[in-house]
Amino acid sequence: MDGCLEASLSPLSIPEYVLGCSGRRMPLLGFGTAASPPVGSQLTKTAILQAIELGYRHFDTASLYGTEQPLGEAILEAIAVGLIKSRDELFITSKLWCSDAHGELVLPALQRSLKNLRLEYLDLYLIHWPVSSKPGIYEFPIKREDFLAMDFKAVWKAMEDCQRLGLTKSIGVSNFSCKKLGDILAFAKIPPAVNQVELNPLWQQKKLREFCKANGILLTAYAPLGAQGTIWGSNRVLECELLKEIAKQKGKTVAQICLRWAYEQGISILVKSFNKDRMKSNLEIFNWSLSQEDVKKINDIPQSRLCSGQDYISKYGPFNTTQELWDGEI
Ligand code: NAP
Repeated sequence: MDGCLEASLSPLSIPEYVLGCSGRRMPLLGFGTAASPPVGSQLTKTAILQAIELGYRHFDTASLYGTEQPLGEAILEAIAVGLIKSRDELFITSKLWCSDAHGELVLPALQRSLKNLRLEYLDLYLIHWPVSSKPGIYEFPIKREDFLAMDFKAVWKAMEDCQRLGLTKSIGVSNFSCKKLGDILAFAKIPPAVNQVELNPLWQQKKLREFCKANGILLTAYAPLGAQGTIWGSNRVLECELLKEIAKQKGKTVAQICLRWAYEQGISILVKSFNKDRMKSNLEIFNWSLSQEDVKKINDIPQSRLCSGQDYISKYGPFNTTQELWDGEI
């Protein structure tokens, strides 16, 4: 099944989506591991173990985050102490960094990620951003002069080869506009299973949501709470007066309102908290719903991106403006 939503309940009651290409079940609420400012490996590992204990089964990492290693260690420990029986109970996503987004570097980059994670396969491997940078340099932010246009055909073919080799069960993209997704779909032998993008009540991605639905691509929300406290986000979502009002009326937190709203849009969600109480309350969104009136009010919130993508703009690279990066979807 490509793109049809099968919201079956797992024993942990996090609804799942069956990815057509692999038949793997992706829990629709996943755990983000990108901390900003970065925290040490031990803190990350402890947070991930707590998350597994609480019932999270879907973990999002990237070679850029430096969290592949602690995630790998946490998985081994979770099995050793009996929190899970095997790695197969988890859904693990990682991402290809821009300096590895060159046809011949994709497979070695995935192999490095698997080594860091101590896994034999990923469930999902994503192109992190639709831009390449000079090979061999791992830096963020990327120096303006290091940006390069991506050879989408070569990179996507290498991603497809990774799936054919069984090193990842499915492949997808991140931070892609409708136009760039259309470019990939025009030549893909294996279409992207997922597009992971910023999505929250202040940036609802209505056009992209429709495009992905029509093309059988699962949209995944990052920064569903607006990524408060990080260098890429802000407190505008959690401080939104309308969301506060709805939360107060319903006896929920603003974060729960955001997560429930996103879940009701038929997408998957990644949320990061390394605080055990917040991790727990972020999971408590599946046994209640928003009223139609609340949904309408949220849908009418004025829209603007929090994560502008400014770090990927360069006069030396393919995108001179954020208009070009997002193909006008701003
Ligand atoms: P987010 O989940 O919207 O927000 C995370 C921030 O909110 C953290 O500072 C967290 O702090 C705080 N928080 C979490 N739960 C809360 C609650 N209930 N009440 C108040 N504050 C709360 O943003 P995100 O981390 O940017 O997005 C989630 C994941 O998506 C990331 O971790 C990463 O895996 C992925 N991501 C991908 C991309 C991409 O380019 N593909 C970009 C950004 C993120 P505490 O930890 O202190 O709770």
